[in-house]
Amino acid sequence: MNETPKRKKAEDLLARVRAAARQEQFLEVVSAEQARARFEKHLDLSPLSPERVGLAAALGRVLAHDVVAAVDAPPFDRSNVDGFAVRATDTTGASDAAPKLLALNPEVIACGVAPALQVAPGTATTIATGGLIPRGADAVVMIEHTELLEQGEPRIEVRRAAAPGQFISYAGSDIARGETLLRRGTRIGSREIGMLAACGLADVDVVRRPRVAVLSTGDELVQPGEPLKPPGVYDSNGAILAAAIREAGGEPLPLGAFPDHAAVLERAVRNALAQADMVVVSGGTSKGAGDLSHTVVSSLGQILVHGVALKPGKPLCLGLIDNKPIVVLPGFPTSAIFTFHAYVAPAIRARAGLPPEAAATLMAEVPVRVASELGRKEFLLVSLVESDRGTVAFPITKGSGAVTSFSQADGFIEIDALAGALDAASEVQVTLIGDVADVPDLVIMGSHDVALDVVVGALAERGFSARVLAVGSQGGVTAASHGQCDIAPVHLIDPATGKYNVHLATAGLTLVPGWRRMQGVLFRPGDTRFEARSAQAAIKTALADPAMLMVNRNAGSGTRVLIDKLLAGSRPPGYANQPKSHNAVAAAIAQNRADWGLAIEPVCKLYGLGFLPVAPEHYDFLVVEKRRDRPAVQAFLAALRDEETRARIRALGMQPAAS
Ligand code: AMP
Ligand code: MG
Repeated sequence: MNETPKRKKAEDLLARVRAAARQEQFLEVVSAEQARARFEKHLDLSPLSPERVGLAAALGRVLAHDVVAAVDAPPFDRSNVDGFAVRATDTTGASDAAPKLLALNPEVIACGVAPALQVAPGTATTIATGGLIPRGADAVVMIEHTELLEQGEPRIEVRRAAAPGQFISYAGSDIARGETLLRRGTRIGSREIGMLAACGLADVDVVRRPRVAVLSTGDELVQPGEPLKPPGVYDSNGAILAAAIREAGGEPLPLGAFPDHAAVLERAVRNALAQADMVVVSGGTSKGAGDLSHTVVSSLGQILVHGVALKPGKPLCLGLIDNKPIVVLPGFPTSAIFTFHAYVAPAIRARAGLPPEAAATLMAEVPVRVASELGRKEFLLVSLVESDRGTVAFPITKGSGAVTSFSQADGFIEIDALAGALDAASEVQVTLIGDVADVPDLVIMGSHDVALDVVVGALAERGFSARVLAVGSQGGVTAASHGQCDIAPVHLIDPATGKYNVHLATAGLTLVPGWRRMQGVLFRPGDTRFEARSAQAAIKTALADPAMLMVNRNAGSGTRVLIDKLLAGSRPPGYANQPKSHNAVAAAIAQNRADWGLAIEPVCKLYGLGFLPVAPEHYDFLVVEKRRDRPAVQAFLAALRDEETRARIRALGMQPAAS
């Protein structure tokens, strides 16, 4: 690009930023309930018209009408066993010692054979499982309780008395003609398909699925499968929203990502409206530079709500174009999904003919104090863990920009708009999401490490499931001492002794050695200030050069203790940049936002950086003694000792401790 257009672009951007700054943040922020009421007032929430589909295509669809059985199942009285159809009174008093003799009628009733003969008093007819009970018979005797006498006329000895009705399934006992079998609004699964087939139905009326167009917006978006480089971001909203639309009973029309360009976006929205019953856009709804999704709504139709007192999800925009709902969700993935479930999913379900979703809830304790913003209803995702004192709901604190929070959460809690905080140990109601029936066999809380995944994998091979909550070493120590987990992975140096972790093994907790991870200085390959030098010498050079930028670590992390020791009181540029993970440190250096920092060797390798070793760090496990005898804990400890697991840990660049 030559100078003039580049400059023009920069000036345009500045002008937009200034305009945005002058503007009211949001015209009017309404409460979560007001927003819903205002939106629903303008929506047609009745089910769409029915369409008839064959059973093979009915899976996942929603029944448009009640299904009334036109036939009985079974269609006739049927034998449940292989044996003989008899009159129960003929068997009264029968036993091994005093068998009853019955004459055998000359026919055999197999499945699909209509009986020709009656079962007269003193006779029996051979019948197979599923056979039609012949006239006169009122019970079936199992073949095992009879003896065939082959001399003379065929006869049987009955050695057990049969009660009337024994081993008979009566006509209509499973499905009765005239019975309402399935209710409208039922989501058709394999079991429902079986019932429909058993009634002889080859097709069924289902509600037409609402077509919902999905558009992502943002110049930064890159489609999955394409290469990514900063400042690009994968378009995850497009995929998750399409899937969530299907889960809510809709038919997604994924239209891809569009740049932050008013005319392009306007064309895309028009095109979406032409094909869909509803349009969902994500991104561009704040008042930041380049955010213009909401302006497209106001220019093509009507904005009903823009700005909701909700966290996450404040910039949500609800509108109407040509009588069709259009929703602009915030771009941050967690916000997008929350607001989708709160405002869009119910509308899709209604049009799809599904009843409102009945969310299951349970009560749990919040282990820590949670601050909350006054004036906004806040939703907080939580992970559930069973402790000695009941269910504990750990807040997931990755923030609304995270994509993984939703999939890792068991549920969420609501904090009232008028509450400034939730106190530690508060009892809260958790609304469950997904399948929480799978209680893990083992709960691991503490610091995460890539080699931990190896041990958890080995555990899975032994048939044990584990849940790992990355709460940091210190968080792990707290959880272990409160009996909220089985095992806490930790790497904390005791500044007094310079030793790792030993000081953490207090009453009720034992320390089991894990592995050693080499900590060192990371730098970009080719940087001669670091290349082929000792870590100490390189850091000395770095400290002498004010142009060099470091990247630090968060206080409380083991790595930070080491950094402070190496810096011996100096505060070089970049010291205030304190990300919380080894990966963030490596990314900052790889992307030239910093020149050096400390991290573990395996992570350094992932980013292709240079490494100057400093000292091995001990990554060990605190085991809660009370829980040590649990099979999953034993399996974890066995996996740690297992040579195959240790070899895999070594392959990742860690040194397993002597076992
Ligand atoms: P916006 O709402 O457009 O201001 O975007 C807020 C944040 O969400 C930014 O960090 C965007 O990069 C991110 N974001 C927006 N759209 C998507 C998307 N489709 N997938 C993943 N992240 C997104
Ligand atoms: Mg954007």
